[in-house]
Formats: sequence, structure tokens, C-alpha cells
Amino acid sequence: MSKIARRKFIQLSAVATAACFVRPGKEVQAEDLPKLSEDDPTAQAMKYVHDASTVDAAARANPAAEQNCANCALIQGEDGAEWRPCQIFPGKVVNANGWCSVWAPKA
Ligand code: SF4
Repeated sequence: MSKIARRKFIQLSAVATAACFVRPGKEVQAEDLPKLSEDDPTAQAMKYVHDASTVDAAARANPAAEQNCANCALIQGEDGAEWRPCQIFPGKVVNANGWCSVWAPKA
């Protein structure tokens, strides 16, 4: 398995695992959830930061400076909210201006 294919497999596995924690029919209230810390071990593993503008574009999975949580396919909650739930970090909210290495384009 190539290094890139293995990375994609790990990312998709993380998404699938996160999806197991999503309870259908239960609406997540973002204001009730704690903010994800950049020091959280999972956040560090996924290279999460609150401010995507601080990320070196060369470090991104597919370099594109405009990537952030607000335009990621895995973000949840209401458009325009500063802190929103994310499928990768169940039980926490991420900054809409943040970024992590699992970023995926919206369909
Ligand atoms: Fe979640 Fe996407 Fe932001 Fe990563 S980039 S923390 S997967 S919303």
C-alpha cells in the first residue's frame, strides 16, 4: 500500500469510526459541547489548529490555502457559527476557521 493510499485509508477509517458515534435522530447542540483543544491527543494526531491560516500549505493533505473547517465536508451544525461539531471529533466543537489533516471537500 503506498504512503498516500495508507494515509487516505487511515483518514477514511477515522471518518467511519466517528460516524459510529453519531446517534441518528439526536440533534447536537453545539453550544452544549466543549471546544476542542489543540492539545487534545486526537487533535494533535490530526494536526488540528483553530486558525487554518497558520498552516503551511505544503503540510496540507492536498495543498489549497482556502481549506478550513467551515468548507469541510465533515463539519456539522449551523453555517456561520464560530464553533461547530465535527464528525471526526465527536462530543467537541471545532473552530469554523480551523483545519485538520482530514479536511475533505464538500460534494
Ligand atoms: Fe473537522 Fe474538517 Fe475541520 Fe478537520 S477540517 S476538524 S475534519 S471540520
